[in-house]
Amino acid sequence: MLASLGTMPELAHQLSGLGGCTHPVRLDGHRTEYAVDQTTGEIGRVLHHLDSSTLPSGQLLVRCNNRRATRCAACAETYRRDTYHLITAGLRGGKGTPERVAVHPRVFATFTAPSFGPVHNRPSGGRDCRCGARHEEGDAVLGTPLDPETYDYEAAVLWNAHAGALWRRFSIYLRREVAKRAGLTQRAFRDHARISFAKVAEYQKRGAVHFHAVIRLDGPEGGDSPPPAWATAELLTDAIRAAATTARVDGPMIDDQAHTFVFGRQLDVRPIRSADFDDGQELTERAVAAYIAKYATKGAEATTGSLDRPIRFLAELAQARITEHARRMIRTAWTLGARPELSDLRLRAWAHMLGFRGHFSTKSRRYSTTLGALRDARADWRRAQAAAPAPQDGETTLVLAHWVFAGTGLSRAEAWLAASLEPAPGTEGEPTWTPAATS
Ligand SMILES: [Zn+2]
Ligand SMILES: [Zn+2]
Repeated sequence: MLASLGTMPELAHQLSGLGGCTHPVRLDGHRTEYAVDQTTGEIGRVLHHLDSSTLPSGQLLVRCNNRRATRCAACAETYRRDTYHLITAGLRGGKGTPERVAVHPRVFATFTAPSFGPVHNRPSGGRDCRCGARHEEGDAVLGTPLDPETYDYEAAVLWNAHAGALWRRFSIYLRREVAKRAGLTQRAFRDHARISFAKVAEYQKRGAVHFHAVIRLDGPEGGDSPPPAWATAELLTDAIRAAATTARVDGPMIDDQAHTFVFGRQLDVRPIRSADFDDGQELTERAVAAYIAKYATKGAEATTGSLDRPIRFLAELAQARITEHARRMIRTAWTLGARPELSDLRLRAWAHMLGFRGHFSTKSRRYSTTLGALRDARADWRRAQAAAPAPQDGETTLVLAHWVFAGTGLSRAEAWLAASLEPAPGTEGEPTWTPAATS
């Protein structure tokens, strides 16, 4: 099973660098880092050499970095924590974002899809569902159509496919609506204020995408500059409502039916308070960041019981253990995907996402730090831990590397050893950074 007991500590050390990732990418190859004289350009001594065959597992193991909790719990957790920090930085400052953003007007808004037909639900006030039953929380029937035969599956899938475009339209209108309320032309608006946001997409039980967004009003330089005196959470809320109501995207004509996409009437906009204490009424920064981060690691599979990877043939659906409603959404996406006029929607490739092909979490450039920056910080830290000799003054480095994909996952022995490793204790809300055996 294991090559030898003597290599176990080394193998354990290499596996611990994966931070719990259970589906790492395996690479064969080598990487050599040379010091290069900056004036002569001459290649000098070897700073660092790595050959995968000398590693305890025989291969270089790289984290899969999958965002989906159903695919890799550890990598999804890293993604969730990074997203939490990204959202928090945009609300309270930190990680390169000024702390003054905490006093800028910010709201948390939820945008829903319109109705595609009545679905089983739990009406407020303890009333019965339209079907006559009173459904318990977690009832599998919730969110599924009362009458699947009349439910507009085509519109539901196409709405998901256009949700990203509808959001972009909304963000253009929002700038316009805020400018209008401030008595500014759109051209002049840029010299007074900026709107930045961070958003996540989530699936409702009925399989329709909806968006949660933090929207912030800054001064002309973004988070670095104070917002103008007229900028209030009330003005922002009012402008969001107007923009969400008017945003509209014209879709395709299918069998003589013209499709137009708008947001649903259920629009929730709440100001975010900077206080850390929660009196049970106001949304706090922490609650918002935790909420957004949680949904960043979910795909359609989490709420609708859909699939977590693309399908290649419609026949695969027969074996899939999914709900009948998800099956119909996927089948509709697959069928529409055969139409040449809809080819740019790539509905077959995104059928498992019920037509939605947008990003799960996006943000405007000025909102806060980026996930990439957080990852770079982690890589820098790992390099420092590895204590590789650094180039000296007047030197630069040259890296020659060649890697070949050798597979994914862990061997049974590696998986057993990895599972027996103590997870590194995480500090409150901080990403768990574990040193890698290799750089
Ligand atoms: Zn992973
Ligand atoms: Zn019902």
